[in-house]
Amino acid sequence: DHVLTQDGLIAKESLLYPFEERGLQFGDGVYEVIRIYQGKYDLLEEHIDRLFRSAEAIRLEVPFMKDELITSLQKLTDRNDVQTDAKLYLQVTRGSAPREHSFPDVPSNFYAYIEQSDRPVSLLQHGVRAILADDIRWDLCYIKSLNLLPNILAKQTAKEKGAFEAILHKQGIVTEGSSSNVFMIKGQILYTHPAADNILHGCVRKKVLALASRAGLQVAETAFTIDQLLHADEIFITSTTSEIMPIIEVEGKTISNGVPGDKTRVLQRAYENESGIHATA
Ligand code: PMP
Repeated sequence: DHVLTQDGLIAKESLLYPFEERGLQFGDGVYEVIRIYQGKYDLLEEHIDRLFRSAEAIRLEVPFMKDELITSLQKLTDRNDVQTDAKLYLQVTRGSAPREHSFPDVPSNFYAYIEQSDRPVSLLQHGVRAILADDIRWDLCYIKSLNLLPNILAKQTAKEKGAFEAILHKQGIVTEGSSSNVFMIKGQILYTHPAADNILHGCVRKKVLALASRAGLQVAETAFTIDQLLHADEIFITSTTSEIMPIIEVEGKTISNGVPGDKTRVLQRAYENESGIHATA
């Protein structure tokens, strides 16, 4: 297997990281996770655009031009002969240098690798449970930063309670999931938190909003409360790896009779069609 670095494609075994690395010591970097369906990237340009937005927001240089990066990522799937469902992880950090908080004058580090990853078909069919958790993160969650401590703590709590995701809230307002965006349907309206600085602007979120009219839904990018969430007709979360994942229970309260809602299912079908996925869920 090969990995893409700032110096081009190299064998995975030869990727070595020094212990004085900004990503390791400070979480000083940004990342992306990109879906690959049957060897082809999904929403590639959207992810690359977001990577550059995140990097710019923390004054970090990506060691590729956008076009160059897209071409190199295509070479990576070709070289590894990826034909199945998989995902790409990539990160850019502020380089390797003796530990000091202020920026060092060294080049950024970059790596991207591909991992086999099946679609969570059974969960997409049956839905999953969620818990609620305080959103204790900083104000700039639109930056896809390597600092994920609050996110992993929330996800771990969810896991320990037998849930798939933690739905985060701040001052009573639902923001997003620990690694997903949150949507609710009430009547004919699809609600999700506006793409403000305090949530990640999910690539799947954007695609779902574009598909809403197919399910006869009007879109409201309007903040909603925990109470409104608990009284929703249908709830789902979105992410690159979880696609459109139905939520059938929140904090022990059953949603849409404990099965994925009809409108959620219509959106799932539309999503599969748009991404060229052979329908399975
Ligand atoms: N919010 C957070 C905090 C996330 O980590 C993710 C997953 N990357 C998302 C939302 C969903 O983003 P996307 O649809 O681009 O995967």
